[in-house]
Amino acid sequence: MNADPLELQKFAELAHRWWDPTSEFRPLHEINPLRLEWINARAPLAGKNVIDIGCGGGILSESMARKGATVTGIDLGEKALKVADLHSLESGVQVRYKLIAAEEMAAQEAGQYDVVTCMEMLEHVPDPGAIVRACAALVKPGGHVFFSTLNRNPKAYLFAVIGAEYILRMLPKGTHDYEKFITPSELSQFIRSAGLEVQGFKGMGYNPLTKIYSLNDDTSVNYLVAARRPLEV
Ligand code: SAH
Repeated sequence: MNADPLELQKFAELAHRWWDPTSEFRPLHEINPLRLEWINARAPLAGKNVIDIGCGGGILSESMARKGATVTGIDLGEKALKVADLHSLESGVQVRYKLIAAEEMAAQEAGQYDVVTCMEMLEHVPDPGAIVRACAALVKPGGHVFFSTLNRNPKAYLFAVIGAEYILRMLPKGTHDYEKFITPSELSQFIRSAGLEVQGFKGMGYNPLTKIYSLNDDTSVNYLVAARRPLEV
């Protein structure tokens, strides 16, 4: 199985606080409107069939459903999915959550999705290339796939590990394993090998003084990638 039990354990311990915007998940809450609008601008979500891989407690999944998409969220974290289900009941925003591996879902529902999202997840799995291939299998010809992850270089180590975990203490120590970070060229390689086309990159920045996140062109730490499955000829 392409999953690291220790990684899943880390998220299980925090899962009950997933929807608390002041918790360890605050960064996800804060970046969510930015990534949602970026996705929606490239692939208008209303009426689309969307799957969110590694959905966790469902911050992005629910927000995409609010835009009018039919959303499925999958993860291997049982606790996070319970929290996601409860939150969806409370908010009245329907999302189909499933405990299933991306690769298995790809075998069951290949080519059924207009949009596939996989955010802040690739840097937690043993074989990210296999997840990218599963995303490529899930999307329809002509459909969109969006990823986000952490770049691997000294600045990313300083900001995403030392800064976020040790200085600002925004994240618990050990949240991120530097070795697993993925450079944009590595991710591009995974995307192309999976038969998708890279459409564009976007950087995600955080200003610790204003505590404001923004999207920009600096992909040196946290970044997003848009990809597309070519139409079949
Ligand atoms: N994508 C969500 C959550 C990111 S947190 C968001 O951006 O808001 C990372 C998530 O990846 C956690 O929910 C964790 O359980 C999940 N995860 C880690 N390894 C996984 C794997 N191998 N398969 C599926 N999900 C995994």
